[in-house]
Amino acid sequence: MSTFTIEAPRVIALPVAGTDASFPVRRVYCIGRNYAAHAVEMGHDPDREPPFFFQKNADNLDPSGEFPYPPKSSDVHHEIEMAVMLKSGGDNIAIEQALDHVYGYALSLDMTRRDLQGEQKKMGRPWEIGKAFERSAPVGIIHPVTDIGHPAQGRVELKVNGEVKQEGDLNQMIWKVSEMISYLSDYFTLAAGDVILSGTPAGVGPVSKGDTMDVSIEGLGTMTIPVV
Ligand code: MN
Repeated sequence: MSTFTIEAPRVIALPVAGTDASFPVRRVYCIGRNYAAHAVEMGHDPDREPPFFFQKNADNLDPSGEFPYPPKSSDVHHEIEMAVMLKSGGDNIAIEQALDHVYGYALSLDMTRRDLQGEQKKMGRPWEIGKAFERSAPVGIIHPVTDIGHPAQGRVELKVNGEVKQEGDLNQMIWKVSEMISYLSDYFTLAAGDVILSGTPAGVGPVSKGDTMDVSIEGLGTMTIPVV
């Protein structure tokens, strides 16, 4: 076994329900505008145009249970999303086989520096500065498919300080989980450890330090995330 020239980066490991073993993360893909009502609120056509994706970094996934308000923004938005964890991958995966590659599902948040994202959009520049910042994706415990199957419907809800801000249903996704996996695999080689954030329903909005987010998706439980 070879040694490294510097200290090796840590493997990002996420907790899994019912086991002490954790899920190691490779890549994080995020779909944009996957619920029609959210596409409309962001000023876009809700028609089924081809999906588009951006990426976060593996170490942006944060199971710590709190969200530190990031620097360089005064308009940080919540986006509740279902995270899909892959146990295998490949190229050109057929829609019919796509769900065979899923290990499990978890609650997650695609926290967004909306002001910075908006500036980047206006200039036709990449979104990382608005999306892929430190601890930008709080994530809950992973529920394996062997326990819960594949959630295709169920209420999606995010409250800020007890008030419902986002609500929808998993069955409102424009691109289903199987279709996202298949589509991504035409462009990237998917592999075990890849995570897909599957988009957010309408109602995104800002949070402030001191707020508390209560996040729930039917079948995946709930999590409470203070903004610190
Ligand atoms: Mn999102």
